[in-house]
Amino acid sequence: MLKNIIEYQKLDAKLLSLKRDLEKDASKQTLNKVVVLVKDSQNKLLELEEKAKSAIKDYEKYKAEYDKAFNQLNDLIKKDVEGMTESQLNESIEKANQLVSLLGSLERGLSSQAENVSTIVKNFETCRNNIVLYKQKYKESKLACEKLEESIRPKVEEIKKQKLEMEKSIDPTLLNKYKHLRQDKIFPVFVPLNNNSCGGCSMELPAALMNKLKAEGYLECEQCRRYIYI
Ligand SMILES: [Zn+2]
Repeated sequence: MLKNIIEYQKLDAKLLSLKRDLEKDASKQTLNKVVVLVKDSQNKLLELEEKAKSAIKDYEKYKAEYDKAFNQLNDLIKKDVEGMTESQLNESIEKANQLVSLLGSLERGLSSQAENVSTIVKNFETCRNNIVLYKQKYKESKLACEKLEESIRPKVEEIKKQKLEMEKSIDPTLLNKYKHLRQDKIFPVFVPLNNNSCGGCSMELPAALMNKLKAEGYLECEQCRRYIYI
């Protein structure tokens, strides 16, 4: 009775092995890697966009301060010094010196902000170029994956057909149990008894369960839910 379901399980093992080969293939590995790279680059692009916005804002702030100091200095220079007292003149000169020094420091700030913006723009372009390359790589590996899938499809279809054919000769209760566990990604579902222990999880069976197993031919493992057979 169990012989058929175990043969059926062997067909599933073949299918799983084909699927694993597909997953292990270099093009599939590249595809997975490239998907991550594109996502990372897109996130980086968003990050750079935010950085650029804030750098431009800073630049504009410096620029406004610079223009204000520049105009103040201009007004000061245009003032008629003829009618000034000596202390007014000294005050004017001191004010002008302060403005010149302020303009110098603002100019340095402006140039460093401009450099900052240009670095961000450069990084942005590199990132965008990378995305174009990754997308090309994605297309290539996707195509290679599809080709490989196509090449094993006849084999897969054949095994599926054999499985369907075999299902007719399997006890429906047993088959349902099998399919139920397969849905939960459990494989293999039927495992042989191994030294009085479950062949799946190695849990030792107490005497009472051993007797039940001997009487019924198979037994659900309490630990891993697989079916143990003799
Ligand atoms: Zn078990």
